[in-house]
Amino acid sequence: MDRRRLMTTGASLLAGGVLAPARSLAAATRIAPSAARVRPDDAGWPSDAQWDGLSRATSGRLIKVQFPLADAIANPDSPATARLFRDLKNPFFIGDTVGLTQTLGWTDAWTTSPSAYAVAAETSADVAAAVNFARAHRLRLVVKGGGHSYLGGSNAPDSLMVWTRRMNAVELHDAFVPAGCKGRLAPEPAVSVGSGAIWLRAYDAVTTKAGRYVQGGGCTTVGVAGLVQGGGFGSFSKAFGSGAANLLEAEVVTADGVVRIANACTNPELFFALKGGGGGTFGVVTRLTLRTHDLPAMFGAANARIEARSDAAYRQLVEKVVGFYAASLFNPHWGEQIGFRGGTVVNVNMVFQGIDQKTAQETWKPFFDWVKAAPDDYRMSAPLVLALPARHFWDAKVMKSLPGIVKGDDRPDAPAEHFFWSGDGGQVGQVLHGYQSAWLPQALLQPARQGELVDALVQASNTWGVSLHFNKGLAGGAPEAVARTRDTAMNPAAADAFALAITGGEEQPAYPGVKGHEPDLAKGRADAVQIARCMAPLRRLQAGPATYISESDYFEKDWRQAYWGPHYPRLRAAKQKYDSGGLFYVHHGVGSEDWSADGFTRLG
Ligand SMILES: Cc1cc2nc3c(=O)[nH]c(=O)nc-3n(C[C@H](O)[C@H](O)[C@H](O)COP(=O)(O)OP(=O)(O)OC[C@H]3O[C@@H](n4cnc5c(N)ncnc54)[C@H](O)[C@@H]3O)c2cc1C
Repeated sequence: MDRRRLMTTGASLLAGGVLAPARSLAAATRIAPSAARVRPDDAGWPSDAQWDGLSRATSGRLIKVQFPLADAIANPDSPATARLFRDLKNPFFIGDTVGLTQTLGWTDAWTTSPSAYAVAAETSADVAAAVNFARAHRLRLVVKGGGHSYLGGSNAPDSLMVWTRRMNAVELHDAFVPAGCKGRLAPEPAVSVGSGAIWLRAYDAVTTKAGRYVQGGGCTTVGVAGLVQGGGFGSFSKAFGSGAANLLEAEVVTADGVVRIANACTNPELFFALKGGGGGTFGVVTRLTLRTHDLPAMFGAANARIEARSDAAYRQLVEKVVGFYAASLFNPHWGEQIGFRGGTVVNVNMVFQGIDQKTAQETWKPFFDWVKAAPDDYRMSAPLVLALPARHFWDAKVMKSLPGIVKGDDRPDAPAEHFFWSGDGGQVGQVLHGYQSAWLPQALLQPARQGELVDALVQASNTWGVSLHFNKGLAGGAPEAVARTRDTAMNPAAADAFALAITGGEEQPAYPGVKGHEPDLAKGRADAVQIARCMAPLRRLQAGPATYISESDYFEKDWRQAYWGPHYPRLRAAKQKYDSGGLFYVHHGVGSEDWSADGFTRLG
């Protein structure tokens, strides 16, 4: 029994004046038996024979979940524990381990804990069997794809998990028409991807092998279904829109166990909800079909680190960055980040598409020349603008030949094409201390308002590091990309923002109870205070709270408004239509306000 449950039981005991052994109390203290989900200690928990039945119904794909960190708690000094903590820096190892998540927890929010059982689904029939079983036995159900949720959306102790990892087939189409849309929608090139696929697999098939482009996420190991349902941005989203904006059709198992097709013509409200309405909420997506695009000739990157030697020089540098972005980079070609840190440092980590290396170098020359002209004020290292044929961008052979850019999967039997960006390495197996994000409206780039933005960035970065992710706000993007992103469930602020400001802090793999690897709770709490202070001046620049669920604060107060804005009532109606019993629950998901914080008890 966890601490929270102990407290619930204790409070009910006091209220009811009941004294009885703890095990039977759980049942005695429920608001109403039908309003709570069944846990392993409860009388209604399925019998071994019933679990065997689910195993048979899923062709033996039911797994009793093992939790590697339980062994580490028992044997903290063993070689196996040392190996586990090394492996917790490999996102492919974590992704292939049913009992783990890519983020191991968040200070005072959640800690990864295993499901009781998982169905390692290979077909939509397996998924339907698991959904029907969970509904019939009133189990907590959770869905895990790539396992990257910051908010713990794919983590639920004592639950039955649908694990989609093995559903990773990829099929390209020359001319796809969503089912039931013939005559209404023109055929277009597309790719169908099993919902358990990670983006690297999609990029390998679509770009490296077929020479086309599909809009996914930046991190190669993120799951396709989780990213698209969360909205989802990649480095080149200013040109191609969000992941959700490119969804043409989904196959989804809803709470009634029915396998449905959702697209613009069939189940359109479900389709709308899947386009950014949040994962783990409306059903289990089993396959997604996404628009593909002509591949640009070149992709490239512009990098530099600039350190100011005084406060005045730093402020001038931030002014210059903001003005330079507004004048030269606020267009569909440029994405990714510029970071501001310590009140002294600006880190440029930008990417481009649709222009060649020479044009990109000429774009940056005036800015770099300005920095170089003031050596007493600035020290600049590694200014570099480089391009490569876009087809090689996710080509493991090419990327692994470039020093320092990527890391491979170091398991002996790992496929050669596995890699992840070195820059994502810090987040692998992380325990988050805090994380905040805010869409910044494009009006701030107007000359008369740039000063406000500069003031806020200087103030924020004197407290903690903050980055502007320009590819995660669609303003300035290609008109078609902006229009398609507006036609999703995401807060429309996404289309009016020039960037998403992100700040956060984390520690490396740690877990409560593992001696020598305990999370640093005191530092976690102290960091969270600084992270909130950092974001405060940037939040004040917003008209109202606006960000997206995938990369946001677990403690976001106005989460309905922030994530979905005016779309929330429409999403709530879709939830009611397709899951009136609340089988699918995630923290701060649509309809989650009806449930206790862990999703076990219906409120009211
Ligand atoms: C290192 C790192 C880098 C990231 N980079 C980016 C980025 O570049 N751009 C961006 O937009 N986001 C990024 N994110 C956020 C990421 O996109 C979201 O966390 C996304 O939801 C993860 O999907 P997943 O399948 O990997 O994770 P999961 O934790 O498995 O799933 C996320 C949510 O979706 C649900 N879900 C998963 N699969 C299904 C399914 N088949 N049907 C129904 N629900 C499902 C889960 O229940 C959970 O609630 C990043 C996160 C990390 C940790």
